[in-house]
Amino acid sequence: MPGFELFGEQEKKQVQDVLDTGVLMRYGFDGMRNGQWKALELEKALEKRMEVKHAQLVSSGTSALTVALASAGIGAGDEVIMPTFTFVASFESILAIGAVPVLVDVDDTLTLNPEAVENAITEKTKVVMPVHMCGSMADLKALKSICDKYNLLLLEDACQAIGGTFDGKPLGSYGDLGCFSFDYVKTITCGEGGAVITNKEKYKINADHYSDHGHDHVGKDRGAETHPFLGYNYRISELNAAVGLAQIERLDEFLSIQKKNYRILREAIETIPEVTFRRVPEGGEESYAFLNFFLPDENTAKRVHQALGNGGVDACFYWYDNNWHYYRKWEHLTNLKSLGKLPQAVYNQLPDYSKSDFSKSDHWVGRAISCLIKLGWSETEVKERAEKMTSLIQGTI
Ligand SMILES: *Cc1c(COP(=O)(O)O)cnc(C)c1O
Repeated sequence: MPGFELFGEQEKKQVQDVLDTGVLMRYGFDGMRNGQWKALELEKALEKRMEVKHAQLVSSGTSALTVALASAGIGAGDEVIMPTFTFVASFESILAIGAVPVLVDVDDTLTLNPEAVENAITEKTKVVMPVHMCGSMADLKALKSICDKYNLLLLEDACQAIGGTFDGKPLGSYGDLGCFSFDYVKTITCGEGGAVITNKEKYKINADHYSDHGHDHVGKDRGAETHPFLGYNYRISELNAAVGLAQIERLDEFLSIQKKNYRILREAIETIPEVTFRRVPEGGEESYAFLNFFLPDENTAKRVHQALGNGGVDACFYWYDNNWHYYRKWEHLTNLKSLGKLPQAVYNQLPDYSKSDFSKSDHWVGRAISCLIKLGWSETEVKERAEKMTSLIQGTI
C-alpha cells in the first residue's frame, strides 16, 4: 500500500515549486505565488481520476470524514451507522460534530453487513458509512438500496482502498460522498492530507467553506470575505498538496504493482485447502492494497499470525487483537473517556457497547489475517515471500 516507498524526484520537483515561491498556503497571496496552486490542481486531478464533479482537499482523512458529514448537514444527535471493524477515525469523525456512532456487524467481506445495517436503523439515523477496509469494498449496491429505501446518505470511507472500483465506478464515487486519506502510510500520500469527493455542488460549497472557517472565498481579499455559516480550520498546506500531486499521477502505476504482487502471493497460498479468502462483493474490484484471508478458526488464525511474524514475514495483521481497528479494544469509546464533556445527545443516545453482541463480527475478524502488499518489493522478494508464507502456514495448521 504505502506510496512513501516510492517517494522520489517527481515529489521533490512539486515541493520545490512551492518552496521557490514561498507561498505555503492554498488561499490568497496571488501576486507572490507565480501561478502555483498545488491544492487546487490536486483537486482537479482527483475529480478527473475519480470521475466526480467535485473534490475538496483537507488536512487528513479523519477531517475529510468530519467535513463530509458537516457538509451534508449532519449534527448533534444524528445517528451514523459504521462498522465494528474499521479505524478509530470513523467514530472520532462522527463524535467531532456531536453525532452518534452506531456500530454494526461486519461479514465475510470484512465490511458492513447490509442486513445488520437495516436492523440498526432508527428514526434518528441519517447516514450509512461503509469503510472499505484493507483494499476491498462493502456491498455498495445493497447498501445503496437500503439508503434509498430509508432516505439516508451513503458516505464511503475509501481511505484504505483508493483505486478499487464497484460497478465500474471508482470507490468513493458510488455514494453521495466519499473520503480518502493521504496520510503517510496510504497508497498515495501527501505526508498528511485527505479529500472529500461528491457530485453534489451544495456539498462541495459547504465543504469548501466549512474547512476554512466558513470563508465564502469570494473576491481576492480574504479579510473582506463573509461567513455564511460557522466553520473550522481543516485546510491542507501547499507543501502537502504538492507531494500528492506527484503521487496521484503515479496511482495507476502503484495499483498495477499491488495487483501483480497480490497475485503472486494469492496463487501460492490458494493451494492450501484450509485457507479461504475474503469475499469481494459482485461488481467489485479490489485495490489490492492487502491480501486478506481466513483460517478455519480463531485459534489457528492466532497461531498462523504468530508463525508468520516469527518466520520473518512482516506486515501481516491479526486485527481481532488490534488496538486501533476493532471494537473489542475501544474502551475509550465504550466508556466515553473524553477530556471535557461531550454533547448531551452522545451521552443520551450512545448504545451500551459493553453489552453489545458482535459475535457475528468476531466470527469473521477472529479468523482473518491481512498482509500488506508493498510497492517496493522486487519480483524475487515477492516469490520468496510467497514460498515462505505457504510453508509457514502449512507447517502451523
Ligand atoms: C487512515 C484512515 C483514516 C484516517 O485518515 P488520516 O489521514 O490518518 O486521518 C480513516 N479511515 C480509514 C479506514 C483509514 O485507514
